[in-house]
Amino acid sequence: MEVFAVPDLPEIRAGDDVAALVEERVDLRADDVVCVASTVVSKAEGRTVNLESVTAGERARALAGRLASITGESKDPRFAQVVLDESNALLLDAPFLLAETRFGHVTVNAGIDRSNVPEADLLLLPEDPTASAAALSTALGVPAIVTDTCGRPFRHGQRGVAIGWAGMPASRDWRGETDREGRELDVTVEAVVDELAAAANLVSGEGDGGTPVVVIRGFEFGDHGGNDLLFRAREDDLVRQALERWEFP
Ligand code: GDP
Ligand code: MN
Ligand code: MN
Ligand code: MN
Repeated sequence: MEVFAVPDLPEIRAGDDVAALVEERVDLRADDVVCVASTVVSKAEGRTVNLESVTAGERARALAGRLASITGESKDPRFAQVVLDESNALLLDAPFLLAETRFGHVTVNAGIDRSNVPEADLLLLPEDPTASAAALSTALGVPAIVTDTCGRPFRHGQRGVAIGWAGMPASRDWRGETDREGRELDVTVEAVVDELAAAANLVSGEGDGGTPVVVIRGFEFGDHGGNDLLFRAREDDLVRQALERWEFP
């Protein structure tokens, strides 16, 4: 398997056709998967927000006030308002905002980004990253994954995850297959799109590299079942339920 960045992409602006920019720079093959950093998908989709256009409501003001008193840093209530607007629910309201986005991804501040955004205060995640991935996949004729860099519980450090995908299943299902001892695997469902997103993120980098699009060439899904379950539903997420019961001291 080969993983390489698409070279010479420009600064992406609202209305840009990312698929066309990719096609001009790389000859894609049938065994490619194209991974695109959500930052540029959002820029192309015009998902920028200027804080002066936001009015913070009562809940956002309360959240920001509480965060400021806990962290000792001032928090803009308008930022908290944008997080709320992008979220179905907050899993934590302190010491940071851990939110479930409208499309079901759980992440700090609903994934709202302030890095690599030259012309606005904030960049939201794409509204529907699976739809964004589907449009990319249709235009490019290969599977597409929209990625974001995310923190994770239990471990330090961030890594790439898939927030939208199309043209391939999210996971490959090893259940019913056997290990080297002939023992049947009964739980392993491998989140392949996250693993590919992590590989892509490794090549993209986080800074000023200018390499938001990565091609993964020659990945073989193999002869396995697949499914599109990636974001847990609240009812079957015990960690989430425990967090929701927890109160910041
Ligand atoms: P995120 O992981 O989706 O939040 O995106 P990052 O901000 O970490 O950026 C990922 C990669 O894309 C880095 O190499 C950035 O330098 C690059 N990048 C971000 N915006 C642009 C852009 O508009 N044009 C180009 N060419 N690269 C960009
Ligand atoms: Mn991001
Ligand atoms: Mn990143
Ligand atoms: Mn193992």
